[in-house]
Amino acid sequence: MRSWSISVGRLFGVDVRIHLTFFLLPLFIFWTEYNAHRTPNSARDLALVGVILACVAAHEIGHILTARRFGLIPKAVILLPLTGVTLYDEPRSDSGQRRILPWKREMRLAPIGPLVNLALASLGVAVITGGGFGIELWKWPFLQASNLPRSFVWANLYLAALNLMPAYPLDGGRVLRAMFARTLDSSAATRRAVAISNAIAMVLIFAGLFSDSWLTMVGIIVFAAAQLEERALVFQWVLDNVRLEEVMLTDFATLSPADTLEDALEKAVHSLQDDFPVVRGSDMVGVISKQRILEALRSEGNGYVQAVMNKIFEVSVRQDSLGSAFSKLTARSSSVIPIVEEQRLIGIVTLQNLMHSTALLAETRKLRREETR
Ligand SMILES: [Zn+2]
Repeated sequence: MRSWSISVGRLFGVDVRIHLTFFLLPLFIFWTEYNAHRTPNSARDLALVGVILACVAAHEIGHILTARRFGLIPKAVILLPLTGVTLYDEPRSDSGQRRILPWKREMRLAPIGPLVNLALASLGVAVITGGGFGIELWKWPFLQASNLPRSFVWANLYLAALNLMPAYPLDGGRVLRAMFARTLDSSAATRRAVAISNAIAMVLIFAGLFSDSWLTMVGIIVFAAAQLEERALVFQWVLDNVRLEEVMLTDFATLSPADTLEDALEKAVHSLQDDFPVVRGSDMVGVISKQRILEALRSEGNGYVQAVMNKIFEVSVRQDSLGSAFSKLTARSSSVIPIVEEQRLIGIVTLQNLMHSTALLAETRKLRREETR
């Protein structure tokens, strides 16, 4: 999901990424500007790209800030030329936030983005008309590198209008999906919304070939965004529905607190594991990583595992979801979670093992779904 986008920094604590289709935009603007007046001005054209990027970002910030109020934690936002896709962590059940049905939440979240764009457009109109700059708002082409204030107003109007199309994952499509989700389960609702979205994208792409090429561009972006979103949802489904017992490692090495670090390293060499539970009798007393063993050996010389192991760790039970294990691992920045049953260690999950199995399960689920289509 990340391979098609690059990270450009953080905004409000959220990883901001730009999808590769965004780079179609400058090319596209150079091309249309060149066709319009044969005098390309790359600085101005880039400024127009910047204006559009800022309008998309403002739209997404609207969604992100509203999502926070529902207890959703945005992880990353991927900016496409006319929309963004925000990936969320589900709210923790213990966060004390008001729980609300996902489809209801979506119905309230989706319209915020277009509203932000409409507000910015009105602001632009107010400044332009009130300031007496002599800028004609109704002059074609509305989006033009040589007139950035007018482009700002129209970029916002276009973004608002386009995002209201019932093409998932644009905001109109999100409302449509929320309506399906009232009667269907969430993955069936998504599939139906994505099917409609793909049909709209195809119509736009073909219509654009015979009329305005901006339509083709919009079609391609809608198509890319729908694929991106569908993948994120499959991933989320796996996190929510797969139990730890399905992926935990049951054949694993353990260390004893009385082992010396050199012994521990010797054992570690014979294992693929990077992290080890430390067990006394049948009790879990700590966890330690290969890395930590090496560091301690380097800095303090040989000692006992007991002295350098991590004594504070979280445990899970076999029925816990993959998602809960992920949040425990990241919250404590530890790398292994023991799975216990009646205080007996029955398995472990490691970060490496979770990432591996999540990707694998998402892939299997996609394959299975394609077979039943
Ligand atoms: Zn939006």
